[in-house]
Parts: sequence; structure tokens; C-alpha cells
Amino acid sequence: MTTTETATTSKINLLGHPLAALEAFFAELGEKPYRAQQVLKWIHHFGVSDFQLMTNLSKPLREKLALVAEIRAPEVASASQAEDGTQKWLLRLADGNSIETVFIPETTRGTLCISSQVGCVLNCDFCSTGKQGFSRNLTSAEIIGQLWFAVRELSLEKGAHDHAITNVVMMGMGEPLLNFDNLMPSLDIMLSDHAYGLAKRRVTVSTAGVIPVMHQLRAATDVALAVSLHAPNDELRDKLVPLNKKYPLAELMKVCRDYFKDDNRRYVTMEYVLLDGVNDSLEHAEQLAALLKNVPAKVNLIPFNPFPFTVYKRSSPETIDRFHARLVAHGLNTRVRKTRGDAIDAACGQLVGQVQDRTRRRERYFSSSR
Ligand code: SAH
Repeated sequence: MTTTETATTSKINLLGHPLAALEAFFAELGEKPYRAQQVLKWIHHFGVSDFQLMTNLSKPLREKLALVAEIRAPEVASASQAEDGTQKWLLRLADGNSIETVFIPETTRGTLCISSQVGCVLNCDFCSTGKQGFSRNLTSAEIIGQLWFAVRELSLEKGAHDHAITNVVMMGMGEPLLNFDNLMPSLDIMLSDHAYGLAKRRVTVSTAGVIPVMHQLRAATDVALAVSLHAPNDELRDKLVPLNKKYPLAELMKVCRDYFKDDNRRYVTMEYVLLDGVNDSLEHAEQLAALLKNVPAKVNLIPFNPFPFTVYKRSSPETIDRFHARLVAHGLNTRVRKTRGDAIDAACGQLVGQVQDRTRRRERYFSSSR
């Protein structure tokens, strides 16, 4: 299919339909509900996008499906691979926007970092995605389409095995909780045994702290939660993560304290990017330890990844070690995230895609930086 054809198609894209939505779709076609399971498996277990290959469906049904529906994932615009094996794909969407998806292989697992929006409205000062401005939410087909694409891509590559992707983190471009309606069907498909069958603890939603939606998320599912903290007091967090002005730390910590209260073996991951001379002093470490005192938390320290025109710098290895040691001395479960993929700009906060910015933030950022 050419791009013009895909852009103008009126066929319904089944890629982002979880089981319940597929059942409703087949009911409307006058088909039996079990067709939904079969098709979900074909799409996500076997990576099939052509109805003609779905051999346990009758021929007339396959033809009917081909007339009214399609299975369409974002298309790859470019791919890059770092020496450490990290891979980044720029994926083109039907409307001309592009997003980025990153695969991070480790010895015992492989993590796919998925985008939830084209750009981001939050405008965190140290994040490159924020500086691109914002275009729109991704559809559920575009969110799950990143996993669908990556599974297929990795299984085609030499050496990769079927289960190369063991973990998914919603830590790409965008704020997933500001796209809740499309996030939920995507999570459903990730967890479904008829699709990817990922364990709940291996799927992480990361948020800058959209408190009302955190409650909604918790009520709907118990996947893992990461919170982008980055500062131990409101004054500093207001600057780094402007969303803090709306949802300040005391309220955010209350939600985190209670988030897994029915299971004392579970923790909220607190992400803290270390910015040289900004949030990395021992005083900040003390404040952070105090803030997290009664919160079941694990701390993930992230060395800052630079991007063009940023005023921030990565803290030195000594400073990072000192900060880490101080948190550990307070009994906090803390680790320093290894920087992966920065040579191909695939590291945390470096994902930019191609955003048709509707906020004009990008323009302002780049003109004021010169
Ligand atoms: N909006 C969500 C999802 C993005 S996750 C959230 O804020 O959690 C991306 C993670 O990388 C966040 O923790 C983010 O704060 C962090 N990050 C952003 N820019 C970064 C940078 N330049 N260097 C290191 N980490 C960064």
C-alpha cells in the first residue's frame, strides 16, 4: 500500500483493539465471539497483518474482513543501532508525524521503550521531547503498533529469539496518563494471554504525576508504576517539572504511599535525573530520603542525557556515587540507571521524533537558544 492509500482509507484498523473491542466488532459483523480470540492471536502472537493468512477463519469471513478492516502499524522511517545493542526506530504515522521507539537488550531481559504521544505538553526543562512541543495523542493502534513492529523486527534479525522483548516501559515520548483512553486498550493487549502475555510487573507506566489519572490507573490495572520525581522539594520541582505547580509533592507522595497498599512487596519506582549543580547535592539527597521515608519506593538515579542547547550538564561520576551512597545509607533501595543508547540519541529524554508542533514551543525554544 502507498502512503496516500493508507492515509485515506476508511477501513477500521484492528491493531489497537483488545479482546472486548474485537468481540464487539465481530458481533456487529454477525460473527461468533470466539473469532475475536482467534484474530487477536493472529495479529499479536503471530504478527500477521494479512487476513488471507488467517487460516482458521472461513474464506468468506477473510474476504469480508479484508473489505472492512485492516491491520496497520506505523511504518519505519529510519533505524539506528548503538554499539551496546540498543536500537532506535523512527516510526512514521499516517498523518506525517513521527515518533521514536527504543529497544534496550540486557543479559536476562529486553526492554522496549514506547511513546504515548507525539511530543509532550509537560515541558520539563531537562527533557528534549518537551522542547519539541506537542502535536497529538497516539491512538491505541499506534501505541501497541510499536510493540507489534518491534517484535516482528527483532524476530527477523539474526540472533534474536521470539521473546527478545520481556519488558515494556511507557517511557518514550509523551505523558501516558494524559492519553489514558488510548493507553488502557494498549496495556490490555500487552497483558493479554492471547496477545503478548506480559506479566503485570514487566509493564511499567511512567508519569510526571498526573494525580487524578494515577487514581484511575490504579483502579483499572496493577501494572508497575514509575514516577518522574527529579527534585526533593516543591520549589525546585516547580522549575524542573512544571506539572508540580498543579500537583505538588505532598499530594503526589500520598498517592505513591497508598498506591500498592494492598501488596507490601510492591514498590513505586522514583526516577531522579541527576543534573550537575541543580539537584545533586548531599542536602538534596537528605531531602529526598526524608520525602520518601514512608513511601514504598525504589529510586532510579538517571545520569542526565544532554541534547542540543540545553543548559544542564550531567553530574560527575563522583557526585553520582556520593548521592547514591547517601540514599543507601538511609536504607533506600537505590540504583543508578546505566546510560544506554546515548550515541544514537536513544537515551532517556532524548527522544524527539518529528512533531508537527501545535504549541509553537519548539520554535520559541530554538530561537531563544541561539
Ligand atoms: N512523561 C512520562 C514519561 C516519560 S519517561 C514521565 O515523565 O514519566 C522518560 C523519563 O526520562 C522520565 O523519567 C524523564 O524525566 C527522564 N528524562 C527526561 N529527559 C531526560 C534527560 N535529558 N536525561 C535523562 N533522563 C531524562
